[in-house]
Amino acid sequence: MPDLVNEFSWSRSRDNVFQECRRRYYLHYYGAWGGWEQAADPVRRALYILKQLGTRQMWAGRLVHEAVERALLALRDGYALSEASLIEDTLRQMREEWKGSRDGVYRQTPKRTGLFEHEYAVPIRDSEWQAIRDNVVRCLRNFHRLPLLAEIKRAPTDRWILIEDIGSFPFEGTLAYAAPDFGYWNEAGRLQLVDWKTGGNGNNVALQLGGYALYSLEVLGVAPERVDLLEVNLREGRVRSHPCDEAILERVREHIRLSVRAMKAYLKDAALNLAEQENFEKTEDLRLCRWCNFRAVCRPELPPFAAAETAPA
Ligand code: SF4
Repeated sequence: MPDLVNEFSWSRSRDNVFQECRRRYYLHYYGAWGGWEQAADPVRRALYILKQLGTRQMWAGRLVHEAVERALLALRDGYALSEASLIEDTLRQMREEWKGSRDGVYRQTPKRTGLFEHEYAVPIRDSEWQAIRDNVVRCLRNFHRLPLLAEIKRAPTDRWILIEDIGSFPFEGTLAYAAPDFGYWNEAGRLQLVDWKTGGNGNNVALQLGGYALYSLEVLGVAPERVDLLEVNLREGRVRSHPCDEAILERVREHIRLSVRAMKAYLKDAALNLAEQENFEKTEDLRLCRWCNFRAVCRPELPPFAAAETAPA
């Protein structure tokens, strides 16, 4: 098998990391590259293990996304997963992953779930873990009860777009990752592009959904006037439609263009996608460092969580 090549690509999460801290961006996309090999250089391997960590909120979001995808795939294949069985399976998975993370399984097998809270011994009360569990259950219940799901079920499955194969598309010479979670054609002949949200609204949702409009045009060949961009808040069980038009497409294009240009300006050799750590400065905002996966190697002087949270006498 040929060696994998670290090719430059663009995604919204990459853009977010780049905006937050250049050093974090370097460690995530360059320093950790190749660390999936057990025999990798130890520094690279350690960075890769840290890179894979997620906070408990991110973990809950991933579990809900996976469960929703399982439910939709089952529906496509002609059987329905009941609300109770979907919740039960997801909670079982959650318990197993939580235990594996607590026991540090991810240090040997970094593809397995590793929680930031376990790696950095963040004191989390049982009630806080319980709240994460309750949020997952609530999201899955709301998913089952959405009028939108009833509409999805009414649409013939050959009018569904499951984003399994094509998550990316070439944009002005750069591979861009900006695929929605799900899509379908409704009875009115309009393409509905769906983003499942499990937490807060996040930054700049309109721009994120605008990326899906670009996906729709570039990958599916569907013009924005035939598309609705749906933000589905599973925690609240609410659906919000965002405008899809040429203006948002142009905003997204310009955003990606500038973001790619800024990222490439940091490279030692843009054609080869070669980066050197010393060119990527550390953020001065220590609040970002506190919750950064790489804090152990980048800012080892930071106080541990337990100590930091002890109230002064
Ligand atoms: S610890 Fe701070 S400076 Fe270092 S990579 Fe993380 S956010 Fe950036």
